[in-house]
Amino acid sequence: MKLYNTLSKKKEEFVPLEEGKVRMYVCGPTVYNFIHIGNARPMIIFDTVRRYFEYKGYDVNYVSNFTDVDDKIIKRAAEEGVTAEEISKRYIEECKRDMEGMNVKPATTHPLATNEIGGMIEMIRTLIEKGYAYEKNGTVYFRTRQFKDYGKLSHKNLDDLRSGERSLLVTGEDEKEDPLDFVLWKPKKEGEPSWESPWSHGRPGWHIECSEMSKKYLGEQIDIHAGGEDLVFPHHENEIAQSEAANGREFAKYWMHNAFLNIDNRKMSKSLGNFRTVREISAQYDLQILRFFMLSAHYRSPLNFSAELMEASKSGLERIVNAADNIKFLMENAKTEGMTQEEIEAYKKTDAFVEDFERAMEDDFNTADAVASVFELVKYGNTTAGPGSSKEYLQKLLERLIRLTDVLGLIVDRKEEILDAEIEKLIEERQAARKAKDFARADAIRGELLEKGIILKDTREGVQWKRA
Ligand code: AMP
Ligand code: ZN
Repeated sequence: MKLYNTLSKKKEEFVPLEEGKVRMYVCGPTVYNFIHIGNARPMIIFDTVRRYFEYKGYDVNYVSNFTDVDDKIIKRAAEEGVTAEEISKRYIEECKRDMEGMNVKPATTHPLATNEIGGMIEMIRTLIEKGYAYEKNGTVYFRTRQFKDYGKLSHKNLDDLRSGERSLLVTGEDEKEDPLDFVLWKPKKEGEPSWESPWSHGRPGWHIECSEMSKKYLGEQIDIHAGGEDLVFPHHENEIAQSEAANGREFAKYWMHNAFLNIDNRKMSKSLGNFRTVREISAQYDLQILRFFMLSAHYRSPLNFSAELMEASKSGLERIVNAADNIKFLMENAKTEGMTQEEIEAYKKTDAFVEDFERAMEDDFNTADAVASVFELVKYGNTTAGPGSSKEYLQKLLERLIRLTDVLGLIVDRKEEILDAEIEKLIEERQAARKAKDFARADAIRGELLEKGIILKDTREGVQWKRA
């Protein structure tokens, strides 16, 4: 199995540190809002990577954090007049709901930064002891030039570097020994969440979180560290410096980074007003379609989100689901049990699609080609399965289809779930019916929604609904 390693800028053969096991860490979101569809890309991609390793029989220990202490969370809390904890808790729950919709498996562990402060303090202490960090007025900095390999991931030259935009600077640059030094610990400002430490009452820098959580849950050395490409520098470069300086050994063997998701060929940003949350998309589409869309491109290519591509993904997924439905229908009505000799041979031919699928996945997780081989299997199924097929043939065909789509995290069972947009439309229709005094129709709509698990409540402010 080959994967592209940002560290060597080459596709490398994957060799696990420990036979049959994969230890991987994926940087998770900062939880101050609903996740956006850009955040969804690494979630879906690396979940698919995990699923493929599992399909190949590896035991995967998958760790992905939630950054629950950060300037953006604190700002949001201040705006709403609630605690930072309330904000992060709320959006962790919402994020998990979105993950479920996208069929992203929960990580083996989802550590929270705020639960791991003690470990971070220990790591910072080690770095100070080893001469890799120093304290000035309650702030602790990493002594970047002390770490000889600095720049090895981002392939930057120390002298060309400027500190990254996400470093948590609070105090003036002047107190740093070197402009390249970055913050490990910083004193609190009024009203901010804070913890006691040997240096000040304060909070950790962002980079140290991941170094500590990766070490605690996966050990000092891991197989794969992953995230979006914006994290290469400074975040991952700094993680390497911290972890390797503190632990005295190589941190991660392979570094994987997904390219960015754009919208209508432009960068997604609040100021351009083209920012889309996963939740917004879920009102319009089943999130399985969003997943399918993400897998339709190679993860290292930029991907453009557009209505046309989502519609194309919708019909693509529909083709697979229809094929599965058709096979299930034929199975229920099959007249013979065991496979005929001809069917045995026909089934043997599907090995080629599985081989193509695996070849694509083993070539740096080329999900676009893997999806293409699923389509080939679907096409073959559609032409060879019919009312005369045996139950066994149909069953085996379906199992194959499910086995491959499951690696991609795509569910072929048709969901009867109703989308938010459809609910809203039915509610409007019911309101119109009531206004026209067509109470029978209004009641019928209420009943129809109830059958789909939607409960309506009429209030003075209008109709509210919730899922049962
Ligand atoms: P953040 O909450 O900004 O730390 O982001 C969480 C994850 O989402 C990181 O791995 C980011 O690299 C990734 N990410 C953020 N925006 C995008 C985007 N537009 N496209 C792809 N990945 C993104
Ligand atoms: Zn991280």
